[in-house]
Amino acid sequence: MIFVNENFSKLKAGYLFPEIGRRVNAFAKANPDASIIKLGIGDVTEPLAPAVTDAMHKAVDEMATHQGLHGYGPEQGYAFLREAIVENDYKPRNIQVDADEIFVSDGAKCDTGNMQEIFGIDNVVAVTDPVYPVYVDTNVMAGRTGEGDDSGRYEKIVYMPCTTENNFVPELPSEPVDMIYLCYPNNPTGAVATKAQLKKWVDYAVENKAIILFDAAYEAFIRGDSIPHSIYEIEGARQVAIEFRSFSKTAGFTGVRCGFTVVPKELVAYTKRGLAVELHRIWSRRHCTKFNGVSYITQKGAEAVYSPEGKRQIQKTIDLYMSNADMMREALTQQGYVVYGGEHAPYIWVHTPKGVDSWAFFDLLINKANVVGTPGAGFGAAGEGYFRLSAFNDPDKVKEAMDRISKI
Ligand SMILES: *Cc1c(COP(=O)(O)O)cnc(C)c1O
Repeated sequence: MIFVNENFSKLKAGYLFPEIGRRVNAFAKANPDASIIKLGIGDVTEPLAPAVTDAMHKAVDEMATHQGLHGYGPEQGYAFLREAIVENDYKPRNIQVDADEIFVSDGAKCDTGNMQEIFGIDNVVAVTDPVYPVYVDTNVMAGRTGEGDDSGRYEKIVYMPCTTENNFVPELPSEPVDMIYLCYPNNPTGAVATKAQLKKWVDYAVENKAIILFDAAYEAFIRGDSIPHSIYEIEGARQVAIEFRSFSKTAGFTGVRCGFTVVPKELVAYTKRGLAVELHRIWSRRHCTKFNGVSYITQKGAEAVYSPEGKRQIQKTIDLYMSNADMMREALTQQGYVVYGGEHAPYIWVHTPKGVDSWAFFDLLINKANVVGTPGAGFGAAGEGYFRLSAFNDPDKVKEAMDRISKI
């Protein structure tokens, strides 16, 4: 008899976006003439940069020839892309990352989800609340948690609330934890972590022989020089941190699929008998066994992100999204809302008005302004009382959305 992996039955139904979809569809059906503006899902809206599509077209033409055909490539990614990443993302910030510490992949969702496989099942997982659900659900599937409760919290996971009181950067946990998921700039709160805040976490991980799984998918949205773009800007991080990055939000690759993960050679985890094992070697084995590489065409497109034209074009798009974020922050603040984020991230985290919970605010916005956002409670219990608005949209639509919200 075939048995099922019963960990999957612990999962709370992926309920947030389906529930939003259900409510939006019901509203649209009842109000066929309403023009709905979607500031809900975190997906890009601007087209790919011409430098990227030119490079991809060229790669396609190469593939149409005998001498230009690229079959299976290196699972870790072509050297041309790994070297471009080192030269452009790390060296200019004086960060030591070697090209062979980079693993190119089909995106950060997969990498953040897959990485837990190389860690023992008894490790204690710590996540922020609110949180990007991938970190939690993949550990549930693996059996690293107990049952979930009605608020969506699982036994054995340590939840670290992120609220206005701590500027959305968690305190160190009071109980020992082993696998620490951090994401800065943050989805959904739009918050950033300073060097001093990240240093505390790196020191904690060093002291406690823990590991930090650092999701930097939004680093390209950081403005100015004071906020760290990489966990490796923090002294000691090469001993304790894995970093995930993605071309999805940086260069609009959500539908192209390319990201990468950095696993420094210093990183170790321990056997039950206390023997240190190099994680680079294990992740390499895992990646090369289960993954056959990102397409040559896609990696050529990703390489072009680092060309001078590519950089200029991509920055222009990021500036467009961030000017949306500025517009939203300004408009909502003027209207009396308390807003967070949106300064170094494409998300605005709005405090819902007193006595209005995050789903009630969702209903209010769609009914009164025909604007769709995401209820904070959908990202975790500590997200209750907050609401996420995404800056990924056309500036005219964002402006229209803000005008409509002002008339509620
Ligand atoms: C969008 C996003 C990613 C990127 O995922 P991809 O699989 O690379 O598209 C990673 N982490 C967070 C928190 C995100 O919001």
